[in-house]
Amino acid sequence: MSRVIAVANQKGGVGKTTTAISLAASLAVAEKRTLLVDCDPQSNATSGLGIQPDSERTSYQALLGECAAKDAVVGTELSYLWLLPAQRDLSGAEIELVPQLSRETKLRDALKSIRNDYDYVLIDCPPSLGLLTVNALTAADSVLIPLQCEYYALEGLSQLLSTVDLVRQHLNPSLEVEGILLTMNDQRSNLCKQVVDDARAHFGGQVFDTVVPRNIRLSEAPSHGKPILLYDISSRGAEAYLALARELLGRREGKSARAASAS
Ligand code: ADP
Ligand code: MG
Repeated sequence: MSRVIAVANQKGGVGKTTTAISLAASLAVAEKRTLLVDCDPQSNATSGLGIQPDSERTSYQALLGECAAKDAVVGTELSYLWLLPAQRDLSGAEIELVPQLSRETKLRDALKSIRNDYDYVLIDCPPSLGLLTVNALTAADSVLIPLQCEYYALEGLSQLLSTVDLVRQHLNPSLEVEGILLTMNDQRSNLCKQVVDDARAHFGGQVFDTVVPRNIRLSEAPSHGKPILLYDISSRGAEAYLALARELLGRREGKSARAASAS
């Protein structure tokens, strides 16, 4: 069974794309067949993997039903990682979808025939709570929320969680929160420590044990078109995302073992 995870937060610059690429690559090196879906018109997940898409076959056409998602998927430098790329025209999709019937379920429909080809499908969302993010949340089994360790980190989170609730009520009753991931942590900063403590106090076990440090190598990797694991495997950034993948896989395996023993 595949698991579809939307990486979402309506704030920009909190580490969504970095997390989507780095976690997808880390799952791929653990030999989990992984598809990264670029659902952001800024297409940073696509360029961050060094991919220049065919302009007729992107997530835009897949979303609007103009091509099959399968035909838009491309391979990457990692043998277990594939990408459904985006380009700027995806911003038009948000407007073009508005008058359409079942406009919130387009991505779910587009992924239906391919999701089971993968163990994990990660969707990189744009920095808004518009139709693209709603499509991602509707297509997903869970949402992973990156939070930047900074003063206003928790602000806006309640709005995101109420959007998750609305999607659950109206479109996708089984949508779960995969976890909250603290990113860009500076261990020397008291403010960062405060944010980590506050997040754990409010959200307890929903916060991943893994905290991603601020690491210059993570910010350099996209300009080389490589995931961090291929750019600098020994960096603290690479270590953190490998640890996150292990934590996520451990949690999932624990859950399925509990489900099996309960049935
Ligand atoms: P979002 O997708 O939420 O807008 P990004 O993942 O693009 O955020 O991150 C915003 C910027 O911060 C990018 O330039 C990225 O390279 C950088 N960045 C992300 N995570 C880290 C980190 N842990 N350490 C240092 N820089 C980071
Ligand atoms: Mg992004």
